[in-house]
Amino acid sequence: MDQPFNEPYDAVIVGSRIAGLATAVHLARQDARVLVVDRATFPATTVSCPIFYGNSMAMLERLGVIEAVEALQAPKIRYYGIRVPHSGIDLVTRLPDSHGRDYAYSVRRELLDTAILRTVQTYPNITIREGFTVRDLVWGNGRVVGIRGRQGRGADEIIYAHAVIGADGKRSLVARATGAEIYDRVKAQTCIFYAYYRNIKPIHEPSAIVYVAADRRTGVLVFDADNDLTVISVGIPVEDFAQARRDPEATLERTWRSIGELAERGMHAERATPVMGQAPVDSYYRQSYGLGWALVGDAGHYVDPVTGQGINNALRGAELLAEAWSRTRRRADWMSALAEYQRQRDQETRPIYNLVAFGERMERSADMGIDLGTPLFRAIARQPRQAQRYVGIFSGATTVAAFFNPFNIASIMIEDGLRYQLPQMAFGGSNRAVAPAGV
Ligand SMILES: Cc1cc2nc3c(=O)[nH]c(=O)nc-3n(C[C@H](O)[C@H](O)[C@H](O)COP(=O)(O)OP(=O)(O)OC[C@H]3O[C@@H](n4cnc5c(N)ncnc54)[C@H](O)[C@@H]3O)c2cc1C
Repeated sequence: MDQPFNEPYDAVIVGSRIAGLATAVHLARQDARVLVVDRATFPATTVSCPIFYGNSMAMLERLGVIEAVEALQAPKIRYYGIRVPHSGIDLVTRLPDSHGRDYAYSVRRELLDTAILRTVQTYPNITIREGFTVRDLVWGNGRVVGIRGRQGRGADEIIYAHAVIGADGKRSLVARATGAEIYDRVKAQTCIFYAYYRNIKPIHEPSAIVYVAADRRTGVLVFDADNDLTVISVGIPVEDFAQARRDPEATLERTWRSIGELAERGMHAERATPVMGQAPVDSYYRQSYGLGWALVGDAGHYVDPVTGQGINNALRGAELLAEAWSRTRRRADWMSALAEYQRQRDQETRPIYNLVAFGERMERSADMGIDLGTPLFRAIARQPRQAQRYVGIFSGATTVAAFFNPFNIASIMIEDGLRYQLPQMAFGGSNRAVAPAGV
């Protein structure tokens, strides 16, 4: 058995993207000596085409990396929401202020992650080793005491640490090696294909629009991104995955061009990147700590990317983990401090996770002919203030509970009934949607 005779690092973090880098900074600020390793060498992309909002930017600011992100000069997206052309629903509005910012950014991961990494690398007590693959964990006296891995194709090395933190994504090796179990799971509804394009006609300003296709189960997300690119990402129902993966390019192109407005916007589109994709992945919560180890980011909790929460959750998870770390410095034992970390993470992320589960149930009811979603979303779209509150759920401006509570839903439906349904019944009046505020 390997003996922990030499422990040069307080923490070894596996994974040097959002979760890993944020955790490294928070621990280093508590004087921890941190090693971050990643098998990738940067700039390196990963399967992800993100949008992130004011709540994430506030955390990037606290990390001291917001200037590096701003320097990428991605367009500020303020015009945001959902369009369901075949139902005439236009729930596109202005993003409300979230943590001091009323805009979102969509930035390619190779730019975003590299900008953050190069800034974090300047911290004196953080060492980053790119191109280092972790192959296993090292155990001693029933706890994790280090990692075994190698630089490039070099020989295996053992590196000891007081704690090993898996920020190594949803296929986490740290989770596998520790036997960390999933304790909650929501079945994936979709698989995803995406690419970045040039020459997608803007609407009238930078925007992020989710178009819902006529089958109501296919979504097409269109975000204006860095360097005059626009990312188009399609979420295809799981049962169509086997067929779709045979020709991802045709699947992507055919799907987005089936939306009239988008086909028109993309008349002169040129694809600028290869098509990337992800098979259906269930959303989950996973046991995220044990003796000598912890998980952060997607490694511990993953939620359907359509919610656009992964980056925010990774950043916030890192903050919560760092608070637990600080409690262990104040003599709390590791297991109880980390139990609190997991409890807080779950409590904060549950509401949007539950929305994913709720959406899945709504889909099933709609398949059985009970469509509650369409009347509700039509009503929200016709009430500018409510539309803005709704989109604020995703940017962190509105809590799920403040919006999806019986009182608010009832008031939306009553208002809609009084303003649109009753007059129409009485006078056969227009059912035209009202443009949201500021549009
Ligand atoms: C298609 C798609 C679209 C998305 N869109 C959004 C969005 O709009 N908004 C949003 O907020 N989120 C989005 N997400 C989610 C977001 O990408 C993730 O939540 C986020 O990347 C999680 O960050 P992380 O640091 O936990 O893990 P990752 O970004 O997965 O990073 C893990 C790192 O660990 C490294 N690693 C893994 N194993 C090892 C090993 N054995 N040795 C060394 N290194 C290792 C990997 O190389 C990688 O660099 C999307 C995801 C997908 C798939």
